[in-house]
Amino acid sequence: MSFQIALDGPSGAGKSTVAKALAAKMGLIYVDTGALYRAIGLYTQRKGVDPKDAEGVAKLLPEISLELRYEADGTQQVYLNGEATGNKIRTPEISMYASAVSAIPAVRDFLLDTQREIAAKNNVVMDGRDIGTVILPNADLKVFLTASDECRAKRRWLELKEKGMETSYESVLEDMRRRDHNDSTRAIAPAVAAPDAILLDSSDLTVEECVAKVEALALAKMKK
Ligand code: C5P
Repeated sequence: MSFQIALDGPSGAGKSTVAKALAAKMGLIYVDTGALYRAIGLYTQRKGVDPKDAEGVAKLLPEISLELRYEADGTQQVYLNGEATGNKIRTPEISMYASAVSAIPAVRDFLLDTQREIAAKNNVVMDGRDIGTVILPNADLKVFLTASDECRAKRRWLELKEKGMETSYESVLEDMRRRDHNDSTRAIAPAVAAPDAILLDSSDLTVEECVAKVEALALAKMKK
């Protein structure tokens, strides 16, 4: 049996940073599930299909093959029909495409098995929105990571800046609130905490403090 940690929460709460560090510390595979939705968003944009057009997007799915590969340092790379997606899936435009296509039931179904298969074969920390509620309802540990809007927007803005993508803090905050609204109010798999998830607010914590808290929770579960 594999050991599974579900790390859910809104964008910018620090999930990927915490998950990556935790994976390195505990020898787990880090699975960034948002990247899968982003890859479908990228394909939809390239095909000129409206990401809110559920039928149009569903028709594209049979043309899409996704693969997750890991580099030596544990960095995840999503391959879209054999092409490494890299930073192409990290632009603000593709964030909105990802958020829109992720509300389409056919898209979520399409990605369900991919996510469950990885978690069945590996010890994982899986970062997403519905990992604890839908994908891995029996995960050993479920954490819902949050932070204030302003704090999350500032982190996302700095992250984009580091990647060379110039944008204003205000537009990041606005985009983030719009995405949060889409993600938490959609009919299918809304981004909400599982009833048995542990809530962790990262606003006033350093990355190290967050990682230490989740690691302590995970070690306690392993001992049981
Ligand atoms: O985590 P990230 O910001 O990369 O996710 C991009 C988008 O994909 C989110 O806004 C959300 O709409 C969607 N998503 C999802 N379920 C997941 C992961 C991401 O709906 N498990």
